[in-house]
Amino acid sequence: MTVKPEVVVVGAGPAGGLAARQLARKGHTVLILEEHKKVGQPVHCAGLIGINGLHENGVIPKSKVIIRRVRQSIFHAPGGGQLVLDKGEPHAYVLHRDRLDQQIVQEAEAAGATVQLETRVTRCKREQNGMRVTIRERESKRDLHAQFVVNAEGVRARLAQDQGLPRPKRDYMLPALQYEVTNVALPPDAVHLYFNSALARGFFAWIIPLETNHARVGLASAHRQIRQALDKFLIQNQLLSGAKIEKRYGGIVYAGGPSSRTIAPRFVNIGDAAGQTKATTGGGVVAGGACAIMVASNISNALQNGSYNHRDLQRYERRWKRSWGRQLQLMAYLRRFVNTLENHELDQLFEKLQASKAREVIQRRGDIDHQGRLITSALTSPVLLQSVLKLLFSKSRFLPKILRG
Ligand SMILES: Cc1cc2nc3c(=O)[nH]c(=O)nc-3n(C[C@H](O)[C@H](O)[C@H](O)COP(=O)(O)OP(=O)(O)OC[C@H]3O[C@@H](n4cnc5c(N)ncnc54)[C@H](O)[C@@H]3O)c2cc1C
Repeated sequence: MTVKPEVVVVGAGPAGGLAARQLARKGHTVLILEEHKKVGQPVHCAGLIGINGLHENGVIPKSKVIIRRVRQSIFHAPGGGQLVLDKGEPHAYVLHRDRLDQQIVQEAEAAGATVQLETRVTRCKREQNGMRVTIRERESKRDLHAQFVVNAEGVRARLAQDQGLPRPKRDYMLPALQYEVTNVALPPDAVHLYFNSALARGFFAWIIPLETNHARVGLASAHRQIRQALDKFLIQNQLLSGAKIEKRYGGIVYAGGPSSRTIAPRFVNIGDAAGQTKATTGGGVVAGGACAIMVASNISNALQNGSYNHRDLQRYERRWKRSWGRQLQLMAYLRRFVNTLENHELDQLFEKLQASKAREVIQRRGDIDHQGRLITSALTSPVLLQSVLKLLFSKSRFLPKILRG
């Protein structure tokens, strides 16, 4: 790009790609910098993404991006109990995640954004009229200048610190491992989630159907020995008997809740870098994408106004916190509460859920992305509320941890 970009976007993940696409559609000059050779790779994702949420973000995945659509979520308790939620129609896509990221970035390019691969941003520094962005391209290093930096560098968020912004909390960065397996016969439209504090403390294990006879099997956990845990899960789970591993992926799932501050003068953290993930499931494609779209509109206003006014970014911070922040925070409380439960307590909670009206509420109102509303309406069931309060009371020593993280 010979023209000075108005906005530099760090990272070509879904958050960076969507921010760039929206800014370019408003006619701004945008440069996306991505450290890898290819957008979307390496893959670190199960690719289970809410249909409504993705569409609300203006992303209609092309047919080559979609593997299948799922209708049922089957939650497994440690003792074997199950909770089946079936919305009667598909609610989530199973996607090729690398192709999704590529589609979004191609849409950004079609709108006029420029993408530069194999370029790592090493530093961002505020100057009088903008930001100086230091980049490393293969062997060389140089500086660029932009009016704004949108930092969508993912969960490690190294650039945030120089701007005085909090990074995602280390204690909630959970190592994850996922296998693509073949030779399995699974119902095609159900995903399975396994809660068990011995297998996956602090998170869960999953099985997601892919094409015929294929599945993604993974887990994330606060225990460090995830490989042994996943291998054991693969051997012991009846749905997976005879499974053969074809591919292995690693990654970090973030389950720590949204960051309290995401803006600095001329600099914004979005996506995983801002903790904009659901702490219940680790999913961040929809929430991060929605915040990316919001920030693009506020930055566009700021650019149109000419002179820099920090209020434009402050408006963005208030907007995303109102629409997503509270829900993400509620999910973080729920995650930290569930993390305190031992297996027998998880079994009890599953039983209460199964027996109470809450199951119907979840089934009716459940939304894979907007879980905040769901949590509050599920707790209107007296049976469930009573058992949650009882468990909470017995865990009162954990309350500071649940409330503050
Ligand atoms: C095992 C696993 C399974 C998951 N499953 C799901 C799921 O099913 N559904 C879901 O919604 N979410 C899932 N997630 C979470 C999801 O992957 C993230 O929430 C999402 O990728 C966040 O998007 P992002 O754009 O913020 O960051 P990322 O997708 O992490 O993108 C950041 C990009 O920035 C680049 N980058 C980083 N630093 C620099 C730098 N200094 N200079 C240049 N480029 C840089 C990186 O290379 C990367 O391409 C999963 C995560 C894991 C680990």
